[in-house]
Order: sequence, then C-alpha cells, then structure tokens
Amino acid sequence: MAEQSAELSPLLKQATPVLAARGEGVYIYDEDDRRYLDFTAGIGVTSTGHCHPRVVEAAQRQVATLIHGQYTTVMHRPLLALTERLGGVLPRGVDRLFFVNSGSEAVEAALRLARQATGRQNAIVFQGSFHGRTMAAASLTTSGVKIRAGIGPLMPGVVVSPFPYAYRLGMSEDAAVEYALRELDYQFATVTSPQDTAAVFIEPVLGEGGYVPVPPAFLRGLRERADRHGFLLVADEVQTGFGRTGRFWGHDHAGITPDIVITAKGLASGFPLSAIAAPSALMEKAWPGSQGGTYGGNAVSCAAALATLDVIEEEGLVDNARVMGERLLAGLRGVAAEHSGIGDVRGLGLMVGNEFTTADGRPDTDTAARAHRIAADKGLLLLTCGPHGNVVRMIPPLIVTADQVDSAVAVWSEAV
Ligand code: PLP
Repeated sequence: MAEQSAELSPLLKQATPVLAARGEGVYIYDEDDRRYLDFTAGIGVTSTGHCHPRVVEAAQRQVATLIHGQYTTVMHRPLLALTERLGGVLPRGVDRLFFVNSGSEAVEAALRLARQATGRQNAIVFQGSFHGRTMAAASLTTSGVKIRAGIGPLMPGVVVSPFPYAYRLGMSEDAAVEYALRELDYQFATVTSPQDTAAVFIEPVLGEGGYVPVPPAFLRGLRERADRHGFLLVADEVQTGFGRTGRFWGHDHAGITPDIVITAKGLASGFPLSAIAAPSALMEKAWPGSQGGTYGGNAVSCAAALATLDVIEEEGLVDNARVMGERLLAGLRGVAAEHSGIGDVRGLGLMVGNEFTTADGRPDTDTAARAHRIAADKGLLLLTCGPHGNVVRMIPPLIVTADQVDSAVAVWSEAV
C-alpha cells in the first residue's frame, strides 16, 4: 500500500505559532520550554489551571477504574455523584439535568427541550450571540457571518433582537437596556408572536460577540417577559458558569432564575463535558430517548468535574475571579487611558474585553490583531473576539494571582 501521511485541514487556523508541550497552573510551555502566561484558559475551559493536581489525580484514578459506561445500559458512580453535586450549585428548582459533551450539543439539547416542553417553535437571540457551530446552534449564532456562511438554509424561526451594547450604541447602559427591551417588544408585535416563542437564549456576558456583560436590568426584563408570555428563559452559561464572572453563575448578577441552564467549558477543567439543567416539570415534557448521546456523562469527565468543583470551593475561586477580575479591569483601563486606540474596556470577573476603535469610532481589527500577536511574542496568550475581531479578550484561569495579573497588564501595555 502506498504510504500517505495526512495534514491538518487549513480550516484549523491557529492564532499563535505556539506548539504547547505542557501546561502547569496559569502557564503553557512550548516544546523549547518557553513559558507563556495563558490568559485564554483554552477558551475559558481550564478554570482550575492547567493540570491541577487534584483534577489529574481524580482523572487518573477513574481511567484505571472505568473509562466509559453508557448510562442507558449501565449507570456509574461518577455520573450519579456529579448529578447530586451539581444540584447543590444550580439555582433552586432547576434540579433535573443530563450530560452531553460540548457547548453546542448542550445548546441543541436546550432548544429541543424548549420546543418539546412548550409546543412552540420560535427562538429569540440577540445580536452578537454565540451558541455554537452545529446546525441549530449556528442558527442561533449571530456573532460573525463565518459561522453561518455557506451552510444554509439555517433553522427557521430564529428572531434576532438588538443587544444592549451600550458602547456601540453610544448610549448609557440604562438607555441601552430601555432601547433593547423596546425593540424586543417590537419584534413581538411585528415578527414573532410571543405565543409562538419557545425560548429566548442569552449569554450573561456576550462572549464571542465582544465580551459585553448583560446589564442586570435587561436580564430582569427578559425574565418578566418570559413569565408574562409563557416562553422559557435559557441562560447559556457555557462561558460564564462555574465562577468565571465572580459569581457562581453569570445570571446571579441579575438575581433571576432561568428556566434552562446550559453549562460546559469550566465544568470539567478540560475534559469534554456539558450539562443541561431545568426544573422537573420541563424535563418531564421532553420525549424519552430524544436527548443525550453515546459519550454524554463520560466517567472520566465526571470524575474530573467532581474534582473541579472541589477545587473551586476549597480554593475560593469564585471570590478570586471577582477580586482578580476587578484588578485586571482596573489595570487594563489604566492602559487604555494612555492609548487612544482602545475605545472601551469592560468585563465581569475574569472575562475582560479591550475594544479597539479608530479615531472616528469604527472597529479597528488590524490594531487589535497586531497587539494580540505582539503580546504572544512577549509571552502572553490572549484571544480576539467580536463580529469584527477588534476586541482582545482576557480569560485567565480562575487561580490567577495578583502578580500574574500585574505581569499580564505590563506586557499588554508594551504590546499596545
Ligand atoms: N455557547 C457559548 C456561550 C460559547 O461561548 C460557546 C463556545 O465558545 C458555545 C456555546 C459552543 O461551545 P462548543 O465550542 O463547546 O461547542
């Protein structure tokens, strides 16, 4: 047989040239043992840091015991223990859950659940939303045409309403909330009847769309409309859950309870695992067998998630995210004050975005990309986001220390 070796698809575009050899805490080391301060956390995944000893130990033990036991055939202890444990951190009443493997799958599952439970079809999302790349999740995603281009027709029945993005709208936060709620009501009067609406999907911090925290008054406005019209409020906590924003859930900042909570990323410190939680009354309306999948609730992922929850609790990572997030935000605002190209710095906990704009207020993608690349050259790994790619975002592991935050701010200052 002729010899052939495969090559990586050009679709996998890498933003930095780093070839990671190992990770430890907040650092990634490349194959030459060069150290990088990782303010990406694998896109918000390795919240407990790279290879936290507790997570490593739990996963190693589980690998040697039972790797996979499919829950429709045999149940296993890590899945049961994690289910029970998550009950202690989920909002009161949102106490039934099941597992899949990724954020997109969890979003798909939430949409199926919402449609089955309400008997309604339409979904509302907000400009700049990101809910994933599978077909239904891509249909709910509006943070960049590349996710949707060339794959249509997308799912019908998705209505896109303005997000209260105060900086881009050139308004105060209060005015932006009032505007976005008014526009939502206008959609209900003109495009989708609330009685046809199954659910509204919202990220408590607009993630890929530019790292814009949702004003609490907006979330409360959605909760009030969901109650009034009988549709479901779905909190996509894939990026914001498990302490990332300085509260356990992003929606905690608004003091509301969603009907469905979607989680992934920070749940298992890098092992693939996601979960969908809803009250029993909703779950019972879903059709048995219509949800789940072969790998959902993998035993090793569940063991890693249990260790992750231990670490979050014992090391006080939710509080650390809040305190370090405030420090990071203040440092970055100081940098922006000295550089006219950064129009806005905003964030919640350890999700902080720096939006680059030109002198006349247009998105400045080139300068953002350059600052991002120079930071990587100087040993600081960052990510970009926003529909124009002009927001440089920082999402370090939740274990980050004050010294590491200050180092990142110093490197960022040089880079911009
Ligand atoms: N929802 C949100 C808010 C996300 O940020 C992401 C990924 O970044 C997803 C869903 C999709 O998750 P995944 O990439 O695991 O499919």
